[in-house]
Amino acid sequence: MMYRDGHQGKSWPWVAVGALLAATVYQLHSQGRIWWCACGKLNLWAGDIWSAHNSQHVFDPYSFTHVLHGIVFYGIMARLFARMSFAWRLCLAIGLEAAWEVFENTPFIIQRYREATIGLGYEGDSIVNSMADILCCVIGFILARQLGLRWSLVLFVVTEGVLLFWVRDNLTLNILMLIYPIDTIKSWQMVH
Ligand SMILES: [Zn+2]
Repeated sequence: MMYRDGHQGKSWPWVAVGALLAATVYQLHSQGRIWWCACGKLNLWAGDIWSAHNSQHVFDPYSFTHVLHGIVFYGIMARLFARMSFAWRLCLAIGLEAAWEVFENTPFIIQRYREATIGLGYEGDSIVNSMADILCCVIGFILARQLGLRWSLVLFVVTEGVLLFWVRDNLTLNILMLIYPIDTIKSWQMVH
């Protein structure tokens, strides 16, 4: 659809998003990430986080942690940048999430995951998986806007709880184990 005169300004956030995503794909590829799971199967979902297919297909249990990123970003930005338009805040959230994906897939962090956490055979995310993670963040961001603070908090806590029992990992543990690995937690996570 074409915008009438005077409305072009509204498309700039989406131009920025497009450029951000293109730069992210380029950067991930330069860092040596593969496009798709080495197994070649076209499954959209990979449910076993202890398998080599984790973070290689489109969605997996960790996708939900990226929805939580979006919820957290919305909560922070709604307060910090209350006067910024929703589109620009969303663009900023996508930028942050893209930066996280690039950082998470640097050789240093991949090595850290392999040594300190349950990501024993972790080889970094596939590029398609990273893009899907960003999509999940966008979903979380939009969800948080619809739900408001109280229900966003409920959704956050419930999701963390479900992930903890389901795959013995969640956003909180993921960050904790990356920064301050605890052997007892790692041993518990490895038993499945
Ligand atoms: Zn696979």
